[in-house]
Amino acid sequence: MQNAVNGAHQIMNRYSALEVLKGGLTGQKNWERVWRAPEPKREYDAIIIGGGGHGLATAYYLAKVHGMTNIAVCEKGWVGGGNIGRNTTIIRSNYMLEDNANFYEKGMQLWEEMAQELNYNVMFSQRGIINVAHSDAQMDSFARRGNAMRLNDIDAELLTREQVKELLPMLDYSSKARFPVYGGLQQPRAGTARHDAVAWGYARAADMRGVDILQNCEVTGFDIKDGQVQGLQTSRGVIKSKKVGIAVAGNTSRICAMAGFNRLPMESHKLQAMVSEPIKPFINTVCTFGAGHFYVSQSDKGGLVFGGDLDGYNSYAQRGNLPAVNHVLQSGMALMPSIGRLRLLRHWAGVMDMSMDGSPIMGTTQVKGLYLNAGWCYGGFKAIPAVGFCFAHTIAQNRPHELNENFTLNRFEKGYLLDEKGMGPVPGLH
Ligand SMILES: Cc1cc2nc3c(=O)[nH]c(=O)nc-3n(C[C@H](O)[C@H](O)[C@H](O)COP(=O)(O)OP(=O)(O)OC[C@H]3O[C@@H](n4cnc5c(N)ncnc54)[C@H](O)[C@@H]3O)c2cc1C
Repeated sequence: MQNAVNGAHQIMNRYSALEVLKGGLTGQKNWERVWRAPEPKREYDAIIIGGGGHGLATAYYLAKVHGMTNIAVCEKGWVGGGNIGRNTTIIRSNYMLEDNANFYEKGMQLWEEMAQELNYNVMFSQRGIINVAHSDAQMDSFARRGNAMRLNDIDAELLTREQVKELLPMLDYSSKARFPVYGGLQQPRAGTARHDAVAWGYARAADMRGVDILQNCEVTGFDIKDGQVQGLQTSRGVIKSKKVGIAVAGNTSRICAMAGFNRLPMESHKLQAMVSEPIKPFINTVCTFGAGHFYVSQSDKGGLVFGGDLDGYNSYAQRGNLPAVNHVLQSGMALMPSIGRLRLLRHWAGVMDMSMDGSPIMGTTQVKGLYLNAGWCYGGFKAIPAVGFCFAHTIAQNRPHELNENFTLNRFEKGYLLDEKGMGPVPGLH
């Protein structure tokens, strides 16, 4: 049931309980395509490279807020094939530096209304996050972060050891624990969502507003004349546009090299996640280990979802190695020894765009009409709605939104770093 209004594609049916009931009574045969598979037009008002969460959300907000409907998203593979479909879906805004805190808190507010906004159940579950502390010094640093969060109007609770024990009884509280639990920092509004539903929800909502989602459309080069972008060379032909936004996560340096930026303050690293066999409800919050790199949550199917450190070497391959899995699981065993009886079902990897200071880059570039969104390290899933909102503003208005005005590329030349962790210029450590 489709019609064309002002050249824009419209899907007539909104998802609703009634539609689900109708589907059930009619053998599930009458569902529409969730988004179209259009042929590329010769020219668009704007093109976004990358059909992950960031690219799709940007296209959605360009259409919704800025009225730009003659736009396309070029995706070299399929929607959901990149990091958007590979991450561990942790959503939080527990940042200390003001630029990061305000940006991610905007994201959190958009998550809270996303399912209604997109008319798509993204299964956002505000189950909270607890960062577990294992020393007095760590408790001090968590208190500092929690205070900074509260000053920015973000929810934060400093928990005693007893409070952590009540919420996370499965941790090792014995006298033999290698890393004793001292307490923790909680953000109650944090949580998880269903990652591929977020991609599908934005794709559908953008398509409904007329955005062409061009899958199997790899960008292979840029047409740039007199410092102004003119269009793109793609595996589906030349497509013209005077505005192009880059949102390709781990492939940023490859795409930027095509546009003549050969040295970016960024490295591509691989990050793995893994899931156990499903078990009955075990942990009802997100939990991070403070003495190593390990975090865990439980999926709706019952599997424990684990993540941890980067694999440790630069690569563009969406595959990881076994030592990294071993390292994550050793940390997990130190924190909650009972998981040792579980079987691991799968592990997989994505390619992270690790910036030198661990904070993102979003704004205009030296090429007119070319905009860059990158450097999300392993925290870009939670950023999706705020990225869409701010990157769309940056592209439509040709200047950053106030929430991303300090995420500049040239901050690395000027020394205005946003080093949330205080790790220094080592992208692999952020
Ligand atoms: C294992 C793992 C765990 C993570 N856990 C979390 C977490 O818990 N919380 C969190 O906030 N973040 C997490 N992240 C990070 C998060 O997934 C990413 O920062 C975020 O998804 C990146 O944005 P995206 O969705 O747009 O990326 P992607 O989905 O990777 O989208 C980029 C797209 O660009 C396309 N592309 C690349 N080159 C081209 C080209 N030449 N032409 C056309 N298209 C191209 C790719 O095919 C890809 O689909 C995790 C990542 C991984 C891998």
